[in-house]
Amino acid sequence: MGKVDFLKDFRDGKKIIAISKLIEKEIDRPINIMEVCGGHTHTIMKYGLKQILPKEIEFIHGPGCPVCVMPKERIDHGIALCQNEKNILVTLGDMIRVPGSESSLAKERSKGKNVKMVYSPFDVLKIAQENPDKNVIYFAIGFETTTPMTASVMEKVLENKIKNVFFHVNHVLVPPPIKAIMESKEARIDAFIGPSHVSVITGAKIYKEIVDSYKTPIVVAGFEPVDIMESVLKIIRQFKENKREVEIQYTRAVNWEGNIKAQKLIEKYFEIRDTFRWRGLGDIPFSALKIKDKFSFLDAEVVFKDILPNKPVDDHKLCICGDILKGIAKPYECKVFGKACTPENPLGSCMVSSEGACAAYYKYGNPEVFKQ
Ligand code: SF4
Ligand code: SF4
Repeated sequence: MGKVDFLKDFRDGKKIIAISKLIEKEIDRPINIMEVCGGHTHTIMKYGLKQILPKEIEFIHGPGCPVCVMPKERIDHGIALCQNEKNILVTLGDMIRVPGSESSLAKERSKGKNVKMVYSPFDVLKIAQENPDKNVIYFAIGFETTTPMTASVMEKVLENKIKNVFFHVNHVLVPPPIKAIMESKEARIDAFIGPSHVSVITGAKIYKEIVDSYKTPIVVAGFEPVDIMESVLKIIRQFKENKREVEIQYTRAVNWEGNIKAQKLIEKYFEIRDTFRWRGLGDIPFSALKIKDKFSFLDAEVVFKDILPNKPVDDHKLCICGDILKGIAKPYECKVFGKACTPENPLGSCMVSSEGACAAYYKYGNPEVFKQ
């Protein structure tokens, strides 16, 4: 018997068109939907969903990519840490290419600095074992989805009494920037599509306060095109029925409470920071995590504090990533989009991250369609 493709149903063209017809039939007002996560932007662009939806639906890209929202000064921390020959800086994915104030981790690596990119945070343990005379510093990034993995690595470091691993923690939270965007009132957002991978960990409950405060529906959605189409339909039906609720479209893995074991692991090692500076959104109170004081001996920000620069750095003056993250501009409105700024030579983080709005528009977009 051949392999069963569970995803096929969720990419089925006929189903997508059938849902778009229902949406067209039922929609009775314009609705601006912010897809919080870059992964959703990617799917919308890749499958051309905007083109098959009625013009009353507008998608607005949100601040849900950990690479895009990382301010330059945090990258500068990573760059400062890898200047010391005794340190190995380890990070995930596209983070290595994000420009800091003057350089990037990739550029530092090409100059011979010890920067490693891994696919799993657990690789940190192996690197530490192979390099007992070095400090291995894990530059941890991600929303609530990836935080439990960082906490598990910490647990392993302690269990195995490993002395040469430290953590530079840049874990951020989804609800605070949503609140900041709603409070700023710069973007007109009627509803949100929430990332399912975050809610697998936290549960859908994290959005209740937002829905109650701002009367905006939030549907927790999977990442396949059918998931997104179903979520749009759910949003439209909420408006029709005059409801404002947290709904779960991705019932395959998300429930209200989330993964309690993972939440406990996070609570064991992390606490909420008083404030964190987001690229484009500025300082947002209680929007990120830090290592609890009890474990400060693992915290690179404490252990290496004397060498970390500490001044806020502005973005490239032509880059409008900030406005894109706030939902008040589209990538094609940036003067340098696709010209001075491309995935090969990104000026801003939204072009660096493969999930970034600018990268997705560059790869899949026909700007004319989006201007309609
Ligand atoms: S195109 Fe480049 S410079 Fe413009 S907003 Fe996007 S990332 Fe920033
Ligand atoms: S590319 Fe930029 S705007 Fe898009 S998800 Fe990433 S950080 Fe956010």
